[in-house]
Amino acid sequence: MDSHSVSHMNSTISENNDNNTAAALMIIGSSSTTTSPPTPSSAGAATSSSSRYENQKRRDWNTFGQYLKNHRPPLSLSRCSGAHVLEFLRYLDQFGKTKVHTPICPFYGHQNPPAPCPCPLRQAWGSLDALIGRLRAAFEENGGKPEANPFGARAVRLYLREVRDVQSKARGISYEKKKRKRPPQQQQQQQKQIPLLPPASSAS
Ligand SMILES: [Zn+2]
Repeated sequence: MDSHSVSHMNSTISENNDNNTAAALMIIGSSSTTTSPPTPSSAGAATSSSSRYENQKRRDWNTFGQYLKNHRPPLSLSRCSGAHVLEFLRYLDQFGKTKVHTPICPFYGHQNPPAPCPCPLRQAWGSLDALIGRLRAAFEENGGKPEANPFGARAVRLYLREVRDVQSKARGISYEKKKRKRPPQQQQQQQKQIPLLPPASSAS
C-alpha cells in the first residue's frame, strides 16, 4: 500500500554554513520550511552542536538504511559499494534547493542572479560533503570495517570534488577552505611592531 514515498523518510540531510542553502537542506520529505534561528554563539553552543551532529548522523544513517530498503533490486549494506553511494547522492539531488546554473545560462557564475532561470536545483556540495562525512562515521560506528567503507570510496571522493568544482563555477562561489592559521608573516610582523623594552635606562 505504502508506495514507499520518500515523504515518509523524515530526515534533514545537512546543515552547513552556506547561508544560501541553510534552509534548503531539509532534504527528504519535510514539507515544513522552518528556518531555525541561528544558533546562539554563546557558551554551551559546543555541546549542543555536537549533539545536533549526533542526531543528524543518526537521521542520515536511518535515511540511508531506508534507501537501501527501498532499493530495487534489494541491496544490503554489506554489498553496498561506492557506486551505490553515488547513486544515493544523485537520488538526493531531486530534493535539492540549490540552484546550479548550466554554462549556457546567462547567470552562470552569478552569486545572486537578478531573475529566475530554469536551471536545475541540486544538493549543495557542502551538504553532500558533510553528509558523506557523517555516514562514513556512522558506517564504522555500526560495525562496518573501515576498509570496506563505501562512503570512503575513491569514487565518492572524486564525485564530491567534481560537484564542488562544478557548483563553485556555476554559482560564482569559492569553496576554498578557510585557513585557520594566519600566514606566519603577519604574525611575525605584528610581533615586530611590539617594541622590545627600551634599553635606555639600563646603564646609569
Ligand atoms: Zn541559471
